[in-house]
Amino acid sequence: MIKPMKPVRIAARDRRNTAIHEAGHVTIGRHVGLKAVSAWLEETSNPGPYDKLWVGKMRYLSPTIFGGKLPRKKLALVAVAGAVADCCWQKYTFEDSYGDDFWLDEDAMSESDWLGCGCDPGNPTRQLFKTIETVFSLLDREAGALWPALLSESRRLIEGSRETSVYQRPALANGGRFHAYCGCRRRRRIWRGAG
Ligand SMILES: [Zn+2]
Repeated sequence: MIKPMKPVRIAARDRRNTAIHEAGHVTIGRHVGLKAVSAWLEETSNPGPYDKLWVGKMRYLSPTIFGGKLPRKKLALVAVAGAVADCCWQKYTFEDSYGDDFWLDEDAMSESDWLGCGCDPGNPTRQLFKTIETVFSLLDREAGALWPALLSESRRLIEGSRETSVYQRPALANGGRFHAYCGCRRRRRIWRGAG
C-alpha cells in the first residue's frame, strides 16, 4: 500500500508548483519586454475547490504609463506561460498536451490567464496553439533558452515566500499603476497515464 503524503510535503510541493507557474509568467513577461515584472507567493487559508495551499500573484507596470500598449500577441505569450511552465516542469510536452486535448479544458488555465489569451476558457484558437508551442520551445527543459531563467526565478520565489517580510512585493507607491495580472488558483492537474 502506498503511504499517503504528509501534509507538510503536500504543502511544499504545492508551493513549488505555484512558484514554477508564476516563474513562467515572469520569465516570459521579461522576455517580451514588460517593465518591473514581479511575482510573489502567498499561503492561503482557503484552499478552494482546487485544493491550493499557495497562490501566486504577478504584476507588471502597465505599458500605458509609457504611452504604449502591450500587443495582444505578447500578452498571450505571457498569459499561457504559467500553464506551459507547469507542463514543462512535469515533462509534459506540447505534443502530449495537444494529443490529450489538454487545452480544450477550461481548467487548463485560470480565468485571468484565459482572459490574457483573448480566448474563451477551453476554447483556444489556432493562433493560441502557435503561441503555446512557442512558449513550450522557450521553456523546454533540454533546449529552451529560458529554462534556466525559469528555474532560478522559481527558486527566488520559494526563498522569498520563506521570508516573513513581504520584500518580494513591489513598492506599493506605484500600486495604482501596476497592472495586477493573475491570482492563479485554478489549475488542471496533469494526469499521466498509469504505469
Ligand atoms: Zn497563471
